[in-house]
Amino acid sequence: MTTKMRPLVAGNWKMNGTRECLTQIKAIAEGVKGPLSEKIEALLCPPSTLLYVSTALADDSPLAIGAQDCHQDRCGPHTGDISADMIADCFGTYVIVGHSERRTHHGETDQLVRAKAAAAHEADLTAIICVGETAEERADGRTLDVLNKEICASVPEGARAGRTVIAYEPVWAIGSGHTPTAADIEAAHAFMRARLVELFGAEGQKMRILYGGSANPTNARDLIRIPEVNGLLVGGASLKAADFLAIYGAYEQLPA
Ligand code: PEP
Repeated sequence: MTTKMRPLVAGNWKMNGTRECLTQIKAIAEGVKGPLSEKIEALLCPPSTLLYVSTALADDSPLAIGAQDCHQDRCGPHTGDISADMIADCFGTYVIVGHSERRTHHGETDQLVRAKAAAAHEADLTAIICVGETAEERADGRTLDVLNKEICASVPEGARAGRTVIAYEPVWAIGSGHTPTAADIEAAHAFMRARLVELFGAEGQKMRILYGGSANPTNARDLIRIPEVNGLLVGGASLKAADFLAIYGAYEQLPA
C-alpha cells in the first residue's frame, strides 16, 4: 500500500550556481505556477550565497526555497557555518541535513545529523534528512541495516511529519547515472515506512520519503510510480530549469 501524501520534488544545487544562474531559478519559480502545484510541492536548495535573493525571486511562486545544510547551534563561533535561524531569516523553509557528501567529506555522524535536524525544527524549518548505503554496504547485503541505523540515530525524537522528510539516497547512485532497480527502491522505502511507523506512530505514516540518486527527466516517470516514493531529491538534473521542470511535470501523467 502506498501512503497518500503531497509529493515533494526537491532540487539540490550543491556548490553550483552564481548570480548568473538566477535566470534558472526564476524560470523554475515561473514554471511551477499552475494547478499541479496544488498537488505537488516544488523546492529548490541553491547555495547559501543565493538563498536570500532566491526567496525574493520565488516570492510570488509556489516554489519553496531551502538550504543544503545548517549548524546545530543557533549562533556562535563557527566560522563559515550558517544556522537554521539564518535560513529562516532569509525566508527559507527547508534545509537538507545529513547528505552523504557531508557525512563523507565533513565526517558528519548520525548524532550530528540529528542535532542539525532538531535545530531545523526549532527554527520552524522542515528538515530533509538523508540516509543511504554505500556500494560496499550494498554488496555486503547491509542496505536495510544501514537504513535502520541511520533512521534510528538521525531523526530526532518526537519528529513530526509536517517538519520532517526522509530522503533515501544510495551513495553509489548519486551523480553516477545509475539507480537501484524499482524493486530495490520499493523494498527500501517499504522498510523505511515500517520503521518510521514503529518509531513515530501516525507521524511516521505521514512523513514523506523521497528517492534521490541520478533522477532525471527520462527516469522520473518510472521512479515516481514506485510505491512509497513520495517525491524525488534531484542533484545534477535540477541545475537546468527545463530538466527540473520536466521531472516535476512527470507527476502530470501520474494517475490520481
Ligand atoms: C544528490 O546529491 O542529492 C543527488 C540526488 O544527486 P544526483 O541527482 O546528481 O545524483
